Amino acid sequence: MERFLSRCAEYIFEKHAGELHEICLIFPNRRSGVFFNSYLQTQLSEPVIGPQVTTINQLISGYSNLQQGEKLRLVSILYDIFKKHTQTEESFDDFYFWGEVLLSDFNDIDHYLVNARDLFTNVANLKELETLFDYLTPEQKKALERFWGSMAGTSPKAHHEKFVSIWEKLYPVYADFKKYLQEQGMAYGGMVYRQVVERFGEQEPKFEFKKYYIIGLNALNRCEKVFFETLKKQQDKAVFLWDYDTFYLNDVKNEAGRFIRDNLRQFPPPEDFNLNISHFSKKKNIRLVAVSSNYGQAQEIPRFLEEIGSDLINKFDNTAVVLADESLLFPVLGAIPEGFETVNVTMGYPVKNAVVYGFLLLLVNILKNLRRSEEGHPVVYHRFVTDVLNHQMLRNIEPEKNARFLADLKANNRISVYLKEINFSPLHKLIFSPPERVGDYSRYFLKILGRFYDLLKDTEPENQLLPELIYSIYQSIEKLDAVVSDVLQTQNRKISDAVYFRLFSQYVGQVSVAFEGEPLSGMQVMGVLETRCLDFENLIILGLNENKWPRTFTAPSFIPYNIRKGFGLPGIDEQDAMYAYYFYRLVQRARNVSATYSTLKEGISTGELSRFGYQLRYDSGFNVKNTTLDFPFSNEPATPVLVPGSLEKTTVLLENNSAKNPLSPTAMNTWLQCSLRFYFRYVLQLPEPDEMKDEIDSPVFGSIFHETIENLYKPLLGKTVNREDLEKIKKDKVLIENEIRKAIGKYYFRQREPGEKNVKLEGKTILFFENIKTFLQRLIDIDMEQAPFQLVSLEGNYQTALDVNVNGKTVPVYIGGKIDRVDKINDTLRILDYKTGNVESFSFKEVEELFEKDREKPKKEILQALVYCLIYKENTKETGHLQPAIYSLRRLFEDNFSPEIKWDKNMFSFDEMEAEFKEQLQDLVAEIFSSDSRFYQTPHEKLCGYCPYNKICQRY
Ligand code: SF4
Repeated sequence: MERFLSRCAEYIFEKHAGELHEICLIFPNRRSGVFFNSYLQTQLSEPVIGPQVTTINQLISGYSNLQQGEKLRLVSILYDIFKKHTQTEESFDDFYFWGEVLLSDFNDIDHYLVNARDLFTNVANLKELETLFDYLTPEQKKALERFWGSMAGTSPKAHHEKFVSIWEKLYPVYADFKKYLQEQGMAYGGMVYRQVVERFGEQEPKFEFKKYYIIGLNALNRCEKVFFETLKKQQDKAVFLWDYDTFYLNDVKNEAGRFIRDNLRQFPPPEDFNLNISHFSKKKNIRLVAVSSNYGQAQEIPRFLEEIGSDLINKFDNTAVVLADESLLFPVLGAIPEGFETVNVTMGYPVKNAVVYGFLLLLVNILKNLRRSEEGHPVVYHRFVTDVLNHQMLRNIEPEKNARFLADLKANNRISVYLKEINFSPLHKLIFSPPERVGDYSRYFLKILGRFYDLLKDTEPENQLLPELIYSIYQSIEKLDAVVSDVLQTQNRKISDAVYFRLFSQYVGQVSVAFEGEPLSGMQVMGVLETRCLDFENLIILGLNENKWPRTFTAPSFIPYNIRKGFGLPGIDEQDAMYAYYFYRLVQRARNVSATYSTLKEGISTGELSRFGYQLRYDSGFNVKNTTLDFPFSNEPATPVLVPGSLEKTTVLLENNSAKNPLSPTAMNTWLQCSLRFYFRYVLQLPEPDEMKDEIDSPVFGSIFHETIENLYKPLLGKTVNREDLEKIKKDKVLIENEIRKAIGKYYFRQREPGEKNVKLEGKTILFFENIKTFLQRLIDIDMEQAPFQLVSLEGNYQTALDVNVNGKTVPVYIGGKIDRVDKINDTLRILDYKTGNVESFSFKEVEELFEKDREKPKKEILQALVYCLIYKENTKETGHLQPAIYSLRRLFEDNFSPEIKWDKNMFSFDEMEAEFKEQLQDLVAEIFSSDSRFYQTPHEKLCGYCPYNKICQRY
C-alpha cells in the first residue's frame, strides 16, 4: 500500500537529495512530521541533516513581533474599551462571558481578513449593498440582504434598535482594542496572522529556505492563503502536496472535497507529483458495528484484531484505533488483548476524565457553596464534605478518623459541617481550610496538588500516570494563577467566583496529557485530529456517532449567521466539511475498516450513526457489513422471594413477645400488607438503613409533632382542660417555639440532650418549624372548641395478653402500643391518634374488612385505633364508652373537621363491636404466629418503593 507521506518523502528526496537541510516542510501537526521523517529515512543511505519540519501556525507566528496574550487579560482590556464606547453599566462578570464571544469573533475577522468597518455597518438602506460591498460575490450580498432585510421587519422595534446600537459601536471597539494591543506588543491569534500578511504588502518578506513544501493541509483561512500566495510568487518557493481521492473530489455534493477543490485550483501540485487518487475504486472490507453501550465499543478491538490476524499489526503504520470519543481511551487500553505488547497512544488524554480532576471539582463545589458562621468559620452543606471525604484520592488517608467522622455526621444528622473540625491529617487540614479570596484559589489548589504529588511520586512505575496527571494539572493552574494575579493587580479588576471557575474549567478542564511513547512502533491509538496525513491498512474507529464525528458544537458568535456567510466567515458548514475530509481521507487507503457507534441515547448523544457512516453504507458502492455487538444482559424477571413457614420462626416470634415488647398494630398492618416485609423486620429483625436526612421526612415530622404536643399538654394531664388553659398555651409563642426546637433537636439532629438554644434552624428546617407551629395552633383551636374535657392520658403505653391458638395450643400473646392521647368529653372516652401522614379512610363497613390480607388500600389507621381501644379497655378495665378517633393533620383545616371513626357511616362505641373485633384479632395473631404461614411478597409493587428491603426483593 502506498501511503501519502511515504510518497511525499520519495518525491522530495528525488528533488532535494543533497540539500534536504535547505527545505522547510509544513504539516498540519507534529505527528505527521514524525511519520514523514521515518519514511524519508528509508530513502537515505547515510546520515544527513534533515529538512526543517514545522506547522503553519509556527511558521506564520515566526514573522510577527507580537506576543499572544492570555484570554483573561485580553477580555479584561476589551471590557475597558467596550465600556468606554458603550457607557455600559455591565459589570466585568456579566461582560466576561460575551467578551469571550466577541474576542473569538474578532479572531475570525482577522483570520479571514474581513473589512471590520464594513462588517459592523448598519445597512439601513438595502440599495446601498451594491455600492458599499462591491467586492463581495452575489451570493454573499444575498446573504447580507437576507439578514438586513429581515432585521428591518423585526418586531418589536426595540429589539432592532438595541441590536443596531451595539452593532454600530463594535467597529470603534475593534479598532481601539487592536490599537491598544499593538502598543502593548500584544495580540490574539487572528491579529498575529493579519499583521504578518498585511505587512507583506508593505515590505517584501524574507523566506530563508530554498523551498517550502505544504503537505496534507486542507481548510485554509484567508491569511494562510495570502501567505502561501506570497510564498508562491517569490521565486516559486512554495510546493503544494495535497492528499485526496477522486471519489469525493469529483462529487461536488460531497463536502469532504470542498476545500481540496479550491486548493487544487488556487495552489496546484507539481505535475510530476504522481499520487494514486482513486483508492475508493479498490476493494475494502468495511463493517459498521452498532453497540448498545458507549464503553462496550472497545470490545470490538479484540474481535477485529483476531479476524485480521496480521503479524504486521506491530508495524507502526499498519493498524490504528481511532477514537472519535476520547473518553473511550481507558476502556480501549483495557480491551487490547494480552500479549499485545506494543501499543502506542498518540493522543492526549483529557485531564477532565481523570480522577484527580474530579476531586478538584468537588473542592470547587465546596468553594462555591461555602458560608461563614456568625463567628466567621467556614461552614458547608454535609454532602459537599462527604463527597470529598469519600473520594478515592482522600479516603485512604487516616481512614479510621475519616470513618468515625462520617459516622458521627450520620448519627447526629448534621446537615451543615464546620470545616475546621476536619483536621485528621495535614492534608485534611489544608483541604478544609479554603481561602476566602478569589485571588488565593489557585494557590489553594496548587498546595493540595503539591501534597498529592509528594505522596504519589514514588509509586510503582506502572502507576505513574496519576502523578503525571497531577503534574499537568499543576502546571495549568500555575498558568491560571499568573493570569489571574496579573489581571487582579495590574488592572485592579475584581474577579468573581463565576468567572474564576469558568477560567478554571477552560485552563484545567481542556488540558490533555500527552502520552510519551515511541510513535514509530506498535499499534497506534489516536484521536481524530492526530490522523491527519497518516494512512493505515487496518482501522478501528470507535465512536462514529453523529455528535462525535462530525462534532456538532460550534463556537458561539455575536455575528449573525447570514452576515458571517456574507463576509465569508466560517460556520457549522465549514466545520462539517473539515470533519468529512478527515473521515474520507483516513478511510481512502485502508483495506479493513471496522467502525463502531453507540446506540445508547444519553445526554446529548442521540445514539445515531454518524452521517459519514450512512454515506459509506449507501453511497460508497462498497458492500458495507452491518453488525451489532451485544452483551448478554439478563432480562429475566427477578425470582419471587418466598419464605416457607417453620417452627423456628414461631419460636422466634414467641420468644420475642412480652409485655415490654408486645405485638404492635404497626406489625399487624405490616403482616397484612406484605408478610415478607414482616419477616425481614420482625423475624429476622433486619435493621432498616440509617440514612442522613436532608429533609424532615414524614416519620420524623410525626415524632416532632407528637413530642411537642405532649410537652405542651403535659401540665394539664389528669385535669379538666378549659378553653382558657388552651388559650394561654396558644398565646405563649416562646413556649411553643422552644418545644418545637427541642423536638427538632431530639428527632432530627439526634441530640442526646436537646435544648432550644443549641438547635440552629436553617433552610428547609425553618419551613418545617413554621409548618409544625401552624398545625399546633390549629389543633389547639380545635381543642378549644371541644373544651372543657378531661385529659386522661398522653403517650401512654398499654398492652394486654390475648389468648391465641398457635399451632393447636393456646398461648398468651401480648399486643400493645403507645396511645397518643385519651380524653374524656362528657361520658365518652376518646382514644385519639395523631396522624401526620395520609389517612386512607375514616370509615369501614364490616369488621372483617379491617383484617383482609393484601388489600391495595388497607384501612390500617382504623385497625390501629381499634386495637388501641381494646388494649386500653383491657389494660385499665374501663367500663365506659370508648370512641376511636384520628386527628389527621391533613384534615385539620377542613371546615367540618371531625376526628371520629365511623362504622357503616355512623358514630359508634367500641363495646358495640368489641367481641367480634377481638375474635378476628385473635385469628390474625394466630395466623402470624403459626408455623404454617408463609412469608411472600406483596402483590402491590407500589408499596415496595419505600420499603427498606426492596434491594433484597429486587423490586425498585
Ligand atoms: S420490597 Fe415489596 S415485596 Fe419486598 S418486602 Fe418490601 S414490600 Fe414486601
